[in-house]
Amino acid sequence: MSYIDVSVPLHGQMVGWPGDPAISIDRALSMDRGDRCNVTRLTMSAHTGTHMDAPRHFVRVGHAMETLPIDAVIGPARVVEIRDPVMIGLDELKALGPRRGERILFKTRNSPRCWETDAFYEDFVYISAAAARHLAEAGVRTVGVDYLSVGGYRNDAVETHEALLVAGIWIIEGLNLTNVAPGNYDLICLPLKIVGSDGAPARAVLRAAT
Ligand SMILES: [Zn+2]
Repeated sequence: MSYIDVSVPLHGQMVGWPGDPAISIDRALSMDRGDRCNVTRLTMSAHTGTHMDAPRHFVRVGHAMETLPIDAVIGPARVVEIRDPVMIGLDELKALGPRRGERILFKTRNSPRCWETDAFYEDFVYISAAAARHLAEAGVRTVGVDYLSVGGYRNDAVETHEALLVAGIWIIEGLNLTNVAPGNYDLICLPLKIVGSDGAPARAVLRAAT
């Protein structure tokens, strides 16, 4: 029973969302400098690398990270492959038949393409607003994507986030699904329990369903 790590490594030079606080991971205390121990200081957005969005990200009084129901992020999950190189559109989504209560993770061309570099890809594959509304109507529990946002850089950024978060869908962003074939898995994704936060970094792993 081996787990596949679908989280991306956090480091000081890694890609972040344009306009978010710069990522810095440095030694506040250093044994090389004569301190008794090493202590790393983290400076970054809550939306760095593999992370989750809470409703509060786009809903002013929405639920924050500490209210995450743990069953939203542990349990069966379906990895589906999207062929469209631009977006997760309504037709391709409908053909996949999203189901009430399911955890659905979208593998797109982002996975093998976007994590190869520390530069930001503006043209990553995103969930169209129409597809997001369909996911909300279908009543899925959790949605995962393989780059830094469910919505696009130029299109549907706000609309897609709102459609999902207002519906109470929990969002996992920044997955790397390069080594994961489409199919059924058991998901474990544990974001940090940051009180009041609109997001939190997470570690996510998948294991093939038995
Ligand atoms: Zn986010």
